Amino acid sequence: MGTLFRPFSTPPATKTTHFLQSSTPSFTILETHFRSSRTTSCRIQSSNKFGDFLDLKPETKAEFLDFDLPCFNPSRRSPVDVVIIGTGPAGLRLAEQVSRYGVEVCCVDPSPLSMWPNNYGVWFDEFERLKLENCLDKIWPMTCVYIDDHKTKYLDRPYCRVSRKKLKTELLQRCVSNGVKFHKTKAWKIEHKEFESLLQCEDGNELKASLVVDASGFASTFIEYDKHRNHGYQIAHGILAEVDGHPYDLDKMVLMDWRDTHMGNEPYLRSCNSKLPTFLYAMPFDSNLIFLEETSLVSRPVLSYTEVKKRMVARLRHLGIKVRRIIEDEKCLIPMGGPLPRIPQSVMAIGGNSGVVHPSTGYMVARTMGLASVLADSIVECLGSTRMVRGKPLYLRVWNGLWPIERRCEREFYSFGMETLLKLDLNGTRRFFDAFFDLDPHYWHGFLSSRLSCGELALLSLSLFGHASAPSRFDILTKCPVPLVRMMGNLALEAI
Ligand SMILES: Cc1cc2nc3c(=O)[nH]c(=O)nc-3n(C[C@H](O)[C@H](O)[C@H](O)COP(=O)(O)OP(=O)(O)OC[C@H]3O[C@@H](n4cnc5c(N)ncnc54)[C@H](O)[C@@H]3O)c2cc1C
Repeated sequence: MGTLFRPFSTPPATKTTHFLQSSTPSFTILETHFRSSRTTSCRIQSSNKFGDFLDLKPETKAEFLDFDLPCFNPSRRSPVDVVIIGTGPAGLRLAEQVSRYGVEVCCVDPSPLSMWPNNYGVWFDEFERLKLENCLDKIWPMTCVYIDDHKTKYLDRPYCRVSRKKLKTELLQRCVSNGVKFHKTKAWKIEHKEFESLLQCEDGNELKASLVVDASGFASTFIEYDKHRNHGYQIAHGILAEVDGHPYDLDKMVLMDWRDTHMGNEPYLRSCNSKLPTFLYAMPFDSNLIFLEETSLVSRPVLSYTEVKKRMVARLRHLGIKVRRIIEDEKCLIPMGGPLPRIPQSVMAIGGNSGVVHPSTGYMVARTMGLASVLADSIVECLGSTRMVRGKPLYLRVWNGLWPIERRCEREFYSFGMETLLKLDLNGTRRFFDAFFDLDPHYWHGFLSSRLSCGELALLSLSLFGHASAPSRFDILTKCPVPLVRMMGNLALEAI
């Protein structure tokens, strides 16, 4: 703990709301609620004969780190090297990595000390490689996938929940000791001159920078695209809940539960689920505390949020999970796949708006933590040296640093994975994951963590076909040609 750190404060209740930009569905509201000593308002309504947890109102209490952040002086006339918009995981990690080399950084965020709202899950090996394993708050030694009522896969790969508090505190402390300054406001508009950018802020100040990096998340309005944005969407409803009990083993994180027996008495839900399936993601903390998230892995157009919640109610009722209290909830919508931002452009991007979200899974945190240091190297090469690369050459270097041709091609493979998943119904999805988790761990670990080369991805595809059942091969042969041809076309375009 650095000397500037003090314990948490809990100011009055507020709601954290993120709006996606207007081209995306308008209901992405992320609310996070924290443990409260006042539990009466969260008790289950005995009048509700279905035990429908949706009636429970979590007590909304935003939490803030109590930390003395060094303020940026907005009246300064000379440009700062780098302004980063947003202090989410992506923005703070980049600030920390760039500032290590003495490059000046100013982070702009309306609330840099707010706790991050999302519940982040990562594979242990990913955070271990990043030397961030001290920022985890729970490790499950094994992971499991319920394919159906008769088949469960046990995966020998530990999974973890990130401690938002520890990770944000760690990154803030490193930033502060590297000299990063913070400006508490919202970025409004960016104007570009030949060798610098002017960032207009909501508080009326204008900040000059050699480079502006946008890390404001999926809702960013600063990043431009030159292709049609045909995202898929992951949509999910999650609760951290106190329950009477649950059927899951405490030493196993449930990555996916594809069982659908809870649809027995719900013909309408069953037929929709058969076409557009959802699964349960569960992190059992103890026998009475569990994070549960009903998730549509990817859909286009996005599956209705109400439908997701109805399925979750039916599932929990069938599993006999009676929710006593909701400690936090999250309403999750993640745009996945689609084209990369225009490369290059005068604003750099990192995080949710930069294309680094895994197109087939929606995971991003571990990858962004890793890629931030790659981007930092390119920034430092231009701004940290005496070479003083500015303007267009700088933008080209940093965009190509994050998205060199090989990484763009790899992303085409991951997007092909998303397009394939979009075409599979429940049974097809089950067969797919049955074969996928039978692959050599090098391949499935690497695929889920975005660390396979194009050659390895091609071998994975062949191996997946080899492991697939006859119906699954039929799915691949009948449903994949169009996405495959599209991927080949995109790869050819990238190569030109
Ligand atoms: C509910 C949910 C759960 C997720 N779970 C996982 C998971 O388990 N594992 C995983 O790998 N990924 C997960 N993701 C995906 C992804 O990792 C997260 O969305 C992640 O928070 C993205 O980080 P970010 O830093 O890019 O953006 P954000 O976390 O969204 O942070 C953006 C920051 O920018 C600030 N900001 C916004 N606009 C402005 C502005 N105009 N000016 C200044 N500041 C601004 C905001 O205040 C915020 O601090 C999840 C996503 C969601 C929505």
